[in-house]
Amino acid sequence: MTIYDNIYDGYSPKGKNTINILALQGYEHWEPFEKDYRGGNKTAYNTEKERMADLLIARAEENLLPGLSSAIEVKEIGTPLTNVRYTGNYRGAMYGWNQTVDNSGQTRVRHETPIKNLYLSGAWSRPGHGYSAVLFSGVECFGQIMREW
Ligand SMILES: Cc1cc2nc3c(=O)[nH]c(=O)nc-3n(C[C@H](O)[C@H](O)[C@H](O)COP(=O)(O)OP(=O)(O)OC[C@H]3O[C@@H](n4cnc5c(N)ncnc54)[C@H](O)[C@@H]3O)c2cc1C
Repeated sequence: MTIYDNIYDGYSPKGKNTINILALQGYEHWEPFEKDYRGGNKTAYNTEKERMADLLIARAEENLLPGLSSAIEVKEIGTPLTNVRYTGNYRGAMYGWNQTVDNSGQTRVRHETPIKNLYLSGAWSRPGHGYSAVLFSGVECFGQIMREW
């Protein structure tokens, strides 16, 4: 759970807060909804999405923030299908490849590829996922392109 107003003064209008509640979940759960989602028929998907969100909100309310559910004015819910829609990431992967020991940091997929002048940067390549890592990935990739150029 992240409360943005704790780190960024004025993020929300006065007297309000913006809270992010996040849980990791595999794509399998959403796969049955994929066809309808792509076809614009989202009734069942939306019901499930609301159900999942309510579960997370109830947990946060029970353990951290009493009264949370009745204080919500605006609610946005994202799922792995949302990630596919907006980022094109395979099965909505939010962090790129699995971060295994042999595929993270400088052992992750390299910037250069077997195809001349095709380079990779971002969460799927080295050093890995996350805002700061992908910024570094772009800088490192640019450096490599310049060296080889
Ligand atoms: C819900 C969620 C919460 C997260 N929280 C955090 C966090 O708290 N801290 C953290 O460090 N990281 C977090 N991450 C991870 C972080 O967002 C990613 O690792 C990072 O944004 C990946 O950056 P990227 O540049 O590799 O890819 P992206 O940010 O996915 O950028 C790729 C871009 O390419 C575009 N694109 C795709 N296909 C095409 C195409 N064919 N033509 C043109 N454009 C295309 C997409 O629209 C997108 O804008 C989170 C991710 C998610 C999903």
